[in-house]
Amino acid sequence: MWGSTLRQTHIFAEIRKIKLKRCFFMIEQAKQVLQSYFGYSSFRPGQESIIENILEGNDTLAIMPTGGGKSLCYQIPALIFDGVTIVISPLISLMKDQVDTLLGVGIAATYINSSISLQEIQERLQDARLGRFKIIYIAPERLESSQFRSLLSSIPISMIAVDEAHCISQWGHDFRPSYRNIQYMIAELPKKPVVAALTATATVEVKDDICSQLQITPSAVFITGFARENLTFNILKGENKRDFVKSFLKENNNQSGIVYAATRREVNELHSFLEKEGHSVGKYHAGLSDEERKRAQEDFLFDTVNVMIATNAFGMGIDKSNVRFVIHYNLPKNIEAYYQEAGRAGRDGEKSDCYLLFASQDIQLQKFLIEQSTMDEGKKEQEYYKLQQMIDYCHTEKCLQTYILEYFGENESPECGRCFNCTDNREKIDVTTEALMVFSCIKRMKERFGKTLVAQVLKGSRNKKILELGFTTLTTYGLLKQYSEKQIVGLIDYLAAEGYVKLTNSQYPVLILDAKALPVLKGEVKIYKKEQVTKKQIVTDNTLFEILREVRKEISSRDQVPPYIVFSDSTLREMSEVAPIDEKELLEIKGVAKTKLERYGEDFLSVIRKYVEEKSAVVK
Ligand code: ADP
Ligand code: MG
Ligand code: ZN
Repeated sequence: MWGSTLRQTHIFAEIRKIKLKRCFFMIEQAKQVLQSYFGYSSFRPGQESIIENILEGNDTLAIMPTGGGKSLCYQIPALIFDGVTIVISPLISLMKDQVDTLLGVGIAATYINSSISLQEIQERLQDARLGRFKIIYIAPERLESSQFRSLLSSIPISMIAVDEAHCISQWGHDFRPSYRNIQYMIAELPKKPVVAALTATATVEVKDDICSQLQITPSAVFITGFARENLTFNILKGENKRDFVKSFLKENNNQSGIVYAATRREVNELHSFLEKEGHSVGKYHAGLSDEERKRAQEDFLFDTVNVMIATNAFGMGIDKSNVRFVIHYNLPKNIEAYYQEAGRAGRDGEKSDCYLLFASQDIQLQKFLIEQSTMDEGKKEQEYYKLQQMIDYCHTEKCLQTYILEYFGENESPECGRCFNCTDNREKIDVTTEALMVFSCIKRMKERFGKTLVAQVLKGSRNKKILELGFTTLTTYGLLKQYSEKQIVGLIDYLAAEGYVKLTNSQYPVLILDAKALPVLKGEVKIYKKEQVTKKQIVTDNTLFEILREVRKEISSRDQVPPYIVFSDSTLREMSEVAPIDEKELLEIKGVAKTKLERYGEDFLSVIRKYVEEKSAVVK
């Protein structure tokens, strides 16, 4: 008995040795492929261990930032394995690029998607059966046909690579229902292939969803650091966005960059503005024809135009490596989307800049998109939560890179030393007293109201709603009257970004205290905030303001009252910034109370709704 145990131990040791040897051999082989096919002398962080795990035959999930080098993680094993590797990839437009790149380095590859005829599909499958391809890219929609899936069974498939694997999860920002067929395809194949999933999205929900659907064990999940050492993050508030972009392009003449705007309309307008200014710009959004988009993309890839003005329809997997800057003209819907888009800068590792131009009216558009979507309530709540984290990012004073990394679960990362906040050397002032007043006001209002109303109470506003609710009798009423309402809102945004207070996840978020406020209330912790820069408030977008002025003019001649009696300029200004879409929101605007709401409310609301809807109808 002892003998047999000993023998077993010995055998196990031998197997381990053989495995180790094989492993060493495989990695050597991988390095050779890296050099001989791709011309790179060393792996990027994470690549080696991911490739090793795949080569050992383990189903693997690789989470790497955009530009981190995910493609090689499956392309190299594909060349080492016998048989064919199928790559599921979400974008038809990129497949051709990817395949051309592979063909360019001498790797037999092809793709199957709706852009080729049925006959071509048959031919390519036949060639695959004969072993003429190593890598085949397939659009997920193909997998919906069980007939197509059964055709795949006749091909010697050794690996399935699922690119942009977050598309499989409804928690991801690009959920693609047809990705769900991948698991059926795998189950139906005669021999189980190795599965490699790759994504840049690292939220826990998405990760867990990918693992459970593709049956990947937690030990086979590889997360490469998300820090991008060569990127500098900036947030600009209260800028005239157009002027900023105009002068930025002037200063960065001939540099390649992307400007992301939220809607098609915004893209069109900005594009023609910049074109008139003599800049070399292209545009891209889903409202253009396939042909136009293709040309725009190529012009950009080939540096025929320097700057692409685009909606988020542009970019998944854009491989252009010399993008020097990414400017977000509007607020993105969440940090994942933001980091992915901003991450398109500097894939080549050279220093690159990311700017987010923040304006609070953009929040309204994102909320509108959530509200009018078909998501169920739980999912909407989740989206509001993510949006709030995006907004917090814009108000935080800590290192922006650190904020993003913590969002993705990477704690204890050092400050980047490069970003807007790290290099902002305004003096920090003690705002503990003001913060305590905010906390106390929230408590006294029983944690049932939004930040505007809390700010108005602290300001000591006499607006109708405050009088009606009897808030003038609160002990906190008017405590911060020396500040402007905008400054108070700014302080509340900051307290939310730093986690002292919380906004609930809904269309009309309610301010509540967070546990982090406790030590402050107890006098154990102080709160510091950077000095307010008293910058001239520049209006960022006049379109809605001008529309509202027109409405006011019509009412004025209809009712025979001077325009300023209808509403003051500052009321219209605030209306254009906040874009209220219902009576409740409209009432929150300074200068709007019950009577005017009854008289003019619908006149204004209907055009604002139309404006917001038009903006969103042309999104993507
Ligand atoms: P992503 O992770 O976003 O899919 P890609 O696979 O497109 O990134 O790779 C981004 C860029 O990095 C490509 O141009 C690729 O050729 C390059 N790259 C990948 N691995 C390496 C490496 N080991 N050494 C140098 N460049 C690499
Ligand atoms: Mg990729
Ligand atoms: Zn920083």
